[in-house]
Amino acid sequence: MSEPAFDHHHPPAAELVSDCVHCGFCLPTCPTYALWGEEMDSPRGRIYLMGLGLEGEPMTSEMVQHFDACLGCMACVTACPSGVQYHKLIEATRAQVERRFDRGPRDRALRRAIFSVFPYPKRLHALRGPLRAYQATGLNRLLRRSGLLRKVFPALAALETLAPPIERYVRVPERVPAKGRKRGTVGMLLGCVQREFFPGVNAATARVLAAEGFDVIAPSRQGCCGALSTHNGREAEAQSFARELIDTFEATGVEWVVVNAAGCGSAMKEYSDLLADDPAYARKAQDFASRVRDVSEILVEYPSMAIRHPLPVTIAYHDACHLAHAQGVRAQPRALLRDIPELNLREIAESELCCGSAGIYNILQPEAGRELGDRKAHNVLATGASLLVTANPGCLMQVAASIEGQGGEIRLAHTVEVLDASIRGLAAEGVGRVISGN
Ligand code: SF4
Ligand code: SF4
Repeated sequence: MSEPAFDHHHPPAAELVSDCVHCGFCLPTCPTYALWGEEMDSPRGRIYLMGLGLEGEPMTSEMVQHFDACLGCMACVTACPSGVQYHKLIEATRAQVERRFDRGPRDRALRRAIFSVFPYPKRLHALRGPLRAYQATGLNRLLRRSGLLRKVFPALAALETLAPPIERYVRVPERVPAKGRKRGTVGMLLGCVQREFFPGVNAATARVLAAEGFDVIAPSRQGCCGALSTHNGREAEAQSFARELIDTFEATGVEWVVVNAAGCGSAMKEYSDLLADDPAYARKAQDFASRVRDVSEILVEYPSMAIRHPLPVTIAYHDACHLAHAQGVRAQPRALLRDIPELNLREIAESELCCGSAGIYNILQPEAGRELGDRKAHNVLATGASLLVTANPGCLMQVAASIEGQGGEIRLAHTVEVLDASIRGLAAEGVGRVISGN
């Protein structure tokens, strides 16, 4: 007889599964249901499959395929009127899949390669030089136009397309002192992809926080927060990253830990769940999680001190799923942007639909990721905005690749880069990075 899908180590909780009343209100907001219209690729369908697993059905490859196809965007959590905690269900399910399901050699090798590079800033840093050299040859554009790599190795093609132009490296000092009246001391997460591929975002974050009266402590020895591992069911690895990060910031005595990457912030706010079984870290994790703030939250919590200069630009704001759906942070970035004189803010159609980035989803599921990216790029370009603003490096890379693929042109920036430009009185045309498919 085949083994049941789940073992006793944190299976998806039966009481959470039974919270789903099958009403279907979540269906229109689910990106995979929007793409394929398949019940088993909807939140309701996936919860039904979890229920089957709890009843003792085996973990089939078909079942895993439906779980794998979920972006973990949590749009269903926002939409659900019954308060179904789908995020807890899918995280528990993913951990079971990673421990108990044999993925086959190709998928295993791809995941091993991703997880031996992405959560390690030093390894990512080593890639900057070769990537810059490769992009300078112009081979990247040629390869994309030929479509050859996409046919032979779609995951590698997705990675190649997503790689952003290499920016000048800026190291955030370990301590950036507050300007003027000091209002507090905050720790700053540097991130992995953010640190190495969007260093300008970290530099802007530190400048804005300092301008608003915060001493910023950014320990250079800090590692990965474990978000990618958490969201992909690699429980033990995520726990180990979380313990290290807690220790690093505990030693600094900061009041808040500020994050500028949506995926990282949402994972760090859930450290108390991740380390609940660890007697040495359960309390510490709870305390740490309560101090985590997205940068837009802290900037709204403390009324602004620094003068905002006019920035005459039309902006489309894209809600990163792990900020809007997972953390409920929607109003704060908009409030910060609306505070800037002469800035015109536009909303994007289908804003609740994920852009298809979802951590490493666009590499593991390149076709679905690309379709969602193209849909988002179309909606972004339809706003007529000249600057797209969002709060997650993954979204920046994903939407950039799709806009480029559609031959569109726009500038891309993080919310704090826009604030930074306004506080410093810079020209609107210089904000962010230019994306052009021409
Ligand atoms: S997390 Fe996103 S992709 Fe997954 S079921 Fe919910 S809405 Fe659909
Ligand atoms: S997850 Fe919520 S919205 Fe979706 S079917 Fe179940 S109860 Fe309804």
